[in-house]
Amino acid sequence: MAEYLASIFGTEKDKVNCSFYFKIGACRHGDRCSRLHNKPIFSQTVVLLNIYRNPQNCSQSADGLRCAVSDVEMQEHYDEFFEEVFTEMEEKYGEVEEMNVCDNLGDHLVGNVYVKFRREEDAEKAVIDLNNRWFNGQPIYAELSPVTDFREACCRQYEMGECTRGGFCNFMHLKPISRELRRELYGRRRKKHRSRSRSRERRSRERRSRSRDRGRGGGGGGRERDRGRSRDRVRSGRF
Ligand SMILES: [Zn+2]
Ligand SMILES: [Zn+2]
Repeated sequence: MAEYLASIFGTEKDKVNCSFYFKIGACRHGDRCSRLHNKPIFSQTVVLLNIYRNPQNCSQSADGLRCAVSDVEMQEHYDEFFEEVFTEMEEKYGEVEEMNVCDNLGDHLVGNVYVKFRREEDAEKAVIDLNNRWFNGQPIYAELSPVTDFREACCRQYEMGECTRGGFCNFMHLKPISRELRRELYGRRRKKHRSRSRSRERRSRERRSRSRDRGRGGGGGGRERDRGRSRDRVRSGRF
């Protein structure tokens, strides 16, 4: 029996635990759901709820005016947002394995940002700190999320461009970033490991201050730090 229960845990057959919360980390019934939402005590993943605002969605504004944001502008705006959050998470809390943003329109998924850290400790630290912070003039709501396998949480039809449920689909519609940004954010890491020996000189000078951070995987050289600094100025109004 125990084996059977384990095999159906978090699936649709499970009458106790909510399969949507288990797989997607969010369910449209929220706190009123008749099944359990087992909030994890440890997880690599942090969700920042409803934090991304797609400028193209403002067409639903009170006066009913369509907003004139082109696809190109929307993508630029999105890439900027993504890079800002990704960089901030790595600088403040630790190495990010992957980050995903929902383009769904349902209240429980709209603008959700899922940050999967390499280490659970960093995720824990991030949740505590983020709940005391603001973004774009709004308080941030962050919590640990049970989602670690985004393949399971994603809507496959959306990826094929054929989801008929549109923005109100209950599976994640993950908004893609531009190829250039993907290369910059995720490719950088591979480069960082390769160039480790070259930057050893500089790193030894910094060892004293960095030893605290060991294991966070933040072996970035001076260039990256400078970039971060210049971005701080731009960012100051948002985070
Ligand atoms: Zn539920
Ligand atoms: Zn879908």
